Amino acid sequence: MSPEQILRDRGLRVTRPRVAVLEVLREGGHLDVDQVATKVRARLDSVSTQAVYDVLGALSRAGLARRIEPAGSSARYENRAGDNHHHVVCRGCGAIGDVDCVVGEAPCLEPTAGSGFVIDEAEVTFWGLCAACQANQER
Ligand SMILES: [Zn+2]
Ligand SMILES: [Zn+2]
Ligand SMILES: [Zn+2]
Repeated sequence: MSPEQILRDRGLRVTRPRVAVLEVLREGGHLDVDQVATKVRARLDSVSTQAVYDVLGALSRAGLARRIEPAGSSARYENRAGDNHHHVVCRGCGAIGDVDCVVGEAPCLEPTAGSGFVIDEAEVTFWGLCAACQANQER
């Protein structure tokens, strides 16, 4: 499906910055606002970081992007939204990877004892060392 069609399906007005941001996110990865802005500017001139930030907000609210913010990291955006996948974060270099959720829908973990809360999400982040950082340590 084209970015234009995806935007229309969600009831969003089609604008060039929205199309460009969506295309950048569809290339994959977990990008911060500056990384998205740099890639968008390679396609369109003169798009402010604030404009990119606003577009990312609109796409997130429409369920077309997911925003994550691992501790110690700036907010990251990705195209893979709505599948409740989790993240593995490297303590050494901050690299972020996707981990499929075994359950696939939120919440995939429930607190054992009744907390009195209705739980709608369990935010799971795995922390460790990526392969590159492990190799560096061994040297
Ligand atoms: Zn690493
Ligand atoms: Zn992800
Ligand atoms: Zn899960």
